Amino acid sequence: MSVRDRVEEIYKQVLDRNAGEPEFHQAVAEVFESLRVVVDVQPEYADAGLIDRLCEPERQIIFRVPWTADNGQVHVNRGFRVQYSSVLGPYKGGLRFHPSVNLGIVKFLGFEQIFKNALTGLPIGGGKGGSDFDPKGRSDAEIMRFCQSFMTELHRHVGEYTDVPAGDIGVGGREIGYLFGQYKRLTNSYESGVLTGKGITWGGSQVRREATGYGVAYFVAEMLKASRNGLADKKVVVSGSGNVAIYAIEKVQQLGGIPIACSDSSGYVVDEKGIDLDLLKEIKEVRRGRISEYADKVQHATFVESGSIWDVPCDVALPCATQNELGEDGAKALVKNGVIAVAEGANMPTTPQGIQVFRSAGISFAPGKAANAGGVATSALEMQQNASRDSWSFEYTDERLAAIMRGIHQRTIDTADQYGLKGDYVHGANIAGFVKVANAMISLGVI
Ligand code: GLU
Repeated sequence: MSVRDRVEEIYKQVLDRNAGEPEFHQAVAEVFESLRVVVDVQPEYADAGLIDRLCEPERQIIFRVPWTADNGQVHVNRGFRVQYSSVLGPYKGGLRFHPSVNLGIVKFLGFEQIFKNALTGLPIGGGKGGSDFDPKGRSDAEIMRFCQSFMTELHRHVGEYTDVPAGDIGVGGREIGYLFGQYKRLTNSYESGVLTGKGITWGGSQVRREATGYGVAYFVAEMLKASRNGLADKKVVVSGSGNVAIYAIEKVQQLGGIPIACSDSSGYVVDEKGIDLDLLKEIKEVRRGRISEYADKVQHATFVESGSIWDVPCDVALPCATQNELGEDGAKALVKNGVIAVAEGANMPTTPQGIQVFRSAGISFAPGKAANAGGVATSALEMQQNASRDSWSFEYTDERLAAIMRGIHQRTIDTADQYGLKGDYVHGANIAGFVKVANAMISLGVI
């Protein structure tokens, strides 16, 4: 059997074995596109069940999460933790609380996380978790009871040297606090390194809250550096208005760009004078309100309820909301309006058809694995600080993050170059991540 046939056989097996999980299939399909290129040059990577093992999570945990609402009603949600690969370090990856969460979503996110974490150059494996719990409209007390119940089961499976969760959609500082409190109570130990994204006064790291968004901005500035004078005066459209979007907007502004639009699930706002960040933070971080409130407060801004944010003309697009939010039509609209670079702040926000549109048009396109790795990289810096019982300054941590993002950018383009795919960030990120994990797997034997 030829090496290519062997890869196709593994790919088919993965799809058959994981039926009904379209997002997981999509994430695997994207990586296999790059693996075909790798095994042509290095056929040994198709041996020893290496790819087969990499596609199968080391462990998948599913559990019941019962909790009581303020009105006394008992709800039952489903909790997940997929411990995908620990070859480079303890499993590392966020928890997502959103009604769309199911095993397939957690597996896609965990699979992506393996390569993303490898790309950071830091010693972290890949994992992901979450629940189909919907935090929208829930009181603080309900969120606390849910988090406590979730951790009552999860605590058996995590630990500083085993698995270190953090936040993702629906899980921020408040939730990490309740989760950490319950872990501390159950284990009777102050094990700071078991979770990242903690508050600054109780073991957290400066810049962790900002890190994913800042990292995306650093990455895209690097993409534009050679030919286009960085982000200076570029019009930037950022989808979403959660943690990633807010801090991408902040750093884009600091680097001289002009973020002109952002969104939530109810619609999008356009402010050609540049998004007023204090107002956006007040609406989203303090009041947990809707994006339409922005246009109520800012006279010259417009709120669009239906339609696509990708119709807003811009130089740079940063999809920072969720998976598959930027499809073929959105990509075509961006290309037609003259976009020059796209970088993913969310995980897999662009569909394969959307990526194809950017590729054919020769638009610089950076996948989330590379562009949004700043969040998890800073989590690894938080782990370093916890392990050494130290805490670093904001400036020092931000410099470390910027250097890590420059490193990821360089590694990605160098790898693409090396495999004859100049300028292809998608292949560059997949291959660089894969080769690092694969080499470590070979060293550790069949486990
Ligand atoms: N959820 C984030 C991601 O998608 C961060 C994970 C972490 O900090 O562990 O990479």
